[in-house]
Amino acid sequence: MSKKSLAPIPKTMRVAIAGSGAIGASVGLALQTLGATTSIFELRSLVAGASGRAFGGIRQQFTDPAEIELAQRSLPFFESLPRALFDPVGYLYLATDDRTESELRSRYQVQRDLGVTCDWLDRESVARTAVGVVTDDVRGALFGPRDGTAEPSEITHHLLRQFLLAGGQIHESSPLPADVLSHFDAVVIATGCETPSILDGLGIARTELANARLPIAALTRSLAETTIVQCHDRLPLVIETHDGFHFRRRGDRIRIAISDAPPRWTTDLDPAPNCDPHWGNEPLERLRRRLPAARTGSIERVWSGLYDVTPDSKPIIDKVSENVYVAAGFSGHGFMISPAVGEGLAKWITCGTRPGLLASFALKRFHTGVRYEYHSPL
Ligand SMILES: Cc1cc2nc3c(=O)[nH]c(=O)nc-3n(C[C@H](O)[C@H](O)[C@H](O)COP(=O)(O)OP(=O)(O)OC[C@H]3O[C@@H](n4cnc5c(N)ncnc54)[C@H](O)[C@@H]3O)c2cc1C
Repeated sequence: MSKKSLAPIPKTMRVAIAGSGAIGASVGLALQTLGATTSIFELRSLVAGASGRAFGGIRQQFTDPAEIELAQRSLPFFESLPRALFDPVGYLYLATDDRTESELRSRYQVQRDLGVTCDWLDRESVARTAVGVVTDDVRGALFGPRDGTAEPSEITHHLLRQFLLAGGQIHESSPLPADVLSHFDAVVIATGCETPSILDGLGIARTELANARLPIAALTRSLAETTIVQCHDRLPLVIETHDGFHFRRRGDRIRIAISDAPPRWTTDLDPAPNCDPHWGNEPLERLRRRLPAARTGSIERVWSGLYDVTPDSKPIIDKVSENVYVAAGFSGHGFMISPAVGEGLAKWITCGTRPGLLASFALKRFHTGVRYEYHSPL
């Protein structure tokens, strides 16, 4: 055999990922598909973080074109899942006063200009679209018909199974090893609000990040779920836009997202103080006013999770040091964009070039001394 015909054997790239949430799982699966040898390290049990506690809203309605692109690129993945895992029931933002009506009408125009499928509904159309929802006070609504609800915990476990089938390795109850950089060609930190302290542990924080810590803060958010109630099986995800209170059907139950005023900037996982599962409480009363079918139900379960919030409520997806990548700061909407984030980051790591899709999420957009004010993208 001539020397010329001997093709060089490509060295398989070894990548370590910290975190078994939707982001770690999506990046891991995409890396395995591209031929890397990937290991996921999870400090606790699998999917123990935000991905196992999320509400499950999937939408394309954002105001930032880059986030819309991530959401649109992620949609085919969700649409390929069985109905039990993703149901395109739509997102319905209700306008109930002057402010929310004008805000939603202008948002409708912005969404249309940015190529998002959405409709403006008058009150009669809202009543037809959201059967059983009280519309007396509704002036109109912004509706995303391709949006819907998904099951974040089940889907993330499904991704992790696919990852294992593709040859990936998972180390459960194992923190990212301190000497990880000596054993792997690249490391991805996808650990939500714990990401800044992991970078500290790797000795990256103060030197590479313009002498600052990664700007991610933890915000506690609580969810509740009712006992079985009878309601229409095409109930959209309904949002009372004036303060973000929202709910969705989940099987025979209704899941409610509880708004906190003021926001709880903590890592405390106790449920919201305004929601006690043992007595008639504010979130349940609100749900019953908007969805009278819920009058027969009570609160069965309340839990909390942590948003990893950046100062502009957009993620940080970047290479922060030689061979160290961060995908964190998803500010409460990382699950719905995780498929596209996984693909984009895996391409960057294996090809060496940042995909244009991820350019808006570079760390350099922040300067030191930033203030956190959570802007709900809802
Ligand atoms: C209450 C709530 C509601 C939400 N609703 C929605 C929604 O409707 N739609 C949506 O798109 N998103 C929603 N989100 C956000 C969404 O859940 C996340 O953005 C998304 O799941 C991505 O999570 P992640 O993989 O970045 O982090 P996580 O799921 O938090 O995973 C990080 C993992 O890293 C692990 N870890 C920590 N330290 C280490 C270490 N040293 N070594 C190894 N592993 C470590 C943690 O144990 C954890 O399992 C919600 C979040 C919450 C809390």
